[in-house]
Amino acid sequence: MKNFLIIIILLISSFQFSISNRKQNYYNQQQFESIIINILHKYFTYDFEEPISINHNIENNNDETKVDPNDHVNVELWNKLNEEDIKKMPVINDYSNEIIAKKWLKWYLYIVQRYSQVDIYLNWNYMTNITEENQQAITAQNLIQSPFSRLVLPIAKKFNEYMKYSENYDLKRIFGGLASSTTSNNDDDVKRISKLGSQLEDIYSTTKVCELNNKKKCYALAPYLERLMQIEKDYDRLLWAWKGWHDECGNKIRPVYLPYIDLLNKNVKENGYHDLAQYWIKGYGIGNVTGFESIIDQLLKNIMPLYEQLHAYVRGRLCSKYENRFDCNGPIPAHILGNMWAQTWHDRLDDIIPYPDAPLINITKVLIEKKFSIHQLYTMAESFFTSIGLYPMTPKFWARSMFEKPTDRNVVCHGSAFNMGYHDDYRVKICTEINDDYFYTVHHEMGHIEYYMAYSEKQPFVYQSGANSGFNEAIGDTIGMFAISPAHLIKLGFLDEENVNLHYEINYLFRLALEKVAFLPFSYVMDKYRFLLFRNEIDVEHELNSKWWALRIEYGGIMAGAPRNDKKNFDAGAKYHIPSNVPYLRYFFAHILQFQFHRAMCRLQGVTKRLHMCDIYGNKYVGEKFKEMLAMGASKSWPEILENFTGENKLESQAILDFFQPLYNWLKMENLARGYPVGWM
Ligand SMILES: [Zn+2]
Repeated sequence: MKNFLIIIILLISSFQFSISNRKQNYYNQQQFESIIINILHKYFTYDFEEPISINHNIENNNDETKVDPNDHVNVELWNKLNEEDIKKMPVINDYSNEIIAKKWLKWYLYIVQRYSQVDIYLNWNYMTNITEENQQAITAQNLIQSPFSRLVLPIAKKFNEYMKYSENYDLKRIFGGLASSTTSNNDDDVKRISKLGSQLEDIYSTTKVCELNNKKKCYALAPYLERLMQIEKDYDRLLWAWKGWHDECGNKIRPVYLPYIDLLNKNVKENGYHDLAQYWIKGYGIGNVTGFESIIDQLLKNIMPLYEQLHAYVRGRLCSKYENRFDCNGPIPAHILGNMWAQTWHDRLDDIIPYPDAPLINITKVLIEKKFSIHQLYTMAESFFTSIGLYPMTPKFWARSMFEKPTDRNVVCHGSAFNMGYHDDYRVKICTEINDDYFYTVHHEMGHIEYYMAYSEKQPFVYQSGANSGFNEAIGDTIGMFAISPAHLIKLGFLDEENVNLHYEINYLFRLALEKVAFLPFSYVMDKYRFLLFRNEIDVEHELNSKWWALRIEYGGIMAGAPRNDKKNFDAGAKYHIPSNVPYLRYFFAHILQFQFHRAMCRLQGVTKRLHMCDIYGNKYVGEKFKEMLAMGASKSWPEILENFTGENKLESQAILDFFQPLYNWLKMENLARGYPVGWM
């Protein structure tokens, strides 16, 4: 869904950094505010002091029957209205005149809001029903919008030449953003990009892996193969699934992806960028490319001592389990870490848990025992947000979200949250299942929606987006971390307080490190690799695939489980965000940021030690401060917004290190005692 964002709505995209983050609120602010206030009055019944019950069904909030099915954008009408309005562009006789600049901006934003509403609507249709027809609708819309973006970009650039010296902060900020956008002058390129982008989504969503001895028995990634990677223990069966997916998906992605990024690169070059990497980085506003990359490098470097200890311990334990299957001093094979991409490792916890005498509560088991429905997972997450004074979900959320994988059509299962930008229409699409991963994911996606709601309520259209794309991803993760903390699970009645002792705490920290710390080198490599590719620093004939693995080994100590072929394979392409072309550093940032948010929230609650035992559920004071940050949207630079909430004006690895300090000490001692080597080169 990003192809047209990048190419067509490029003017908006400066303000909208995340896949699940393109949204705007078309209808009038007052109307919106009064609706929100009504919702607040109606549903904010949850009292902090009340004892917590397991069943969080807020049934009266679920009045999806009241949703008018026709209350959504009308593509044809919106396009027609825009066609008329485009003709009414204000006359510009002086680009230095701020009154004219404001008038032009008003005209521009009016049109661009409608276009973006149409975009997101068509995207939703496609993502939740992959058909030729829905794909064509996107391409057609891209072509309709192209002339507009070609018309406005040069004008925005001219205005910016003067507005960058303006004393008006907003004009300066808004035109600065608009001028850094891109557009395509070539309709054929627009068509091809749109088509290739859809083809990539299609391949990823429909690829299946068949049994070696039965070509009629084939499985999709979600839920079968993903689940298998989590629960299967047999080395060779895991390897079959891993190799099957990487061969089937990656090999097919390769010939489509390469021309696709060539076109994208060509497009940004035509717009004055060196390459796509530079274009992706600009949203962060951190100096030049080299400066930006050295900041990321330093963050990762700071965390590496912790990562290496974790890696050493995990490898040592897996080595005893899979004796003689791999070198116990080298990288870990990617297929035995409980995840198709070895990006998180916590699904292998049972086999490598530090203290088996203090097993962690099995959230999946509790959810099943308590007969949780998918709907209840969502109302439970909602209750966390409302307990700290954030928003309840809207009726349209309940009526229009895709909560489960449909059986009658192909969809993009990868979870995401949508701001339809129209009449409090917020949605998620997730192929939810009842297990611990989704328990967490549901909080994550709802975090996106809370962010949408907060800035849509408070900010004008141009500032209705995250402070940066890392913020978008960190909001729900922060709440999710509180939700799975021992302290919160005790409150939920999932966990018996008596079971929580020092061993339990180490197990818990270890489990979380398998998810959060293990992820950092992976997320780093995702864009490190693409940046090299975008800059033509990878010889695609001879090292397209081996370069990927060289980086995964260098930075993460993870290797391919089977021999790979540089002529055919494209293992990076077997990870969703590569074919779907979503920048990934946002997740790296988010994993640093969420610990900064978490630490700040605990501090506001008066907790400065043993941060892993802190839970801010029900704390409206902390929630209020948090909401203030959300409500700022992109109205200020992200360092300012971060500082306002945490007191820190930059990304700091110290917060995640603080959180895991007790585990780090433990790992060092334990690796030493067990004689586990550290490092892999
Ligand atoms: Zn997300």
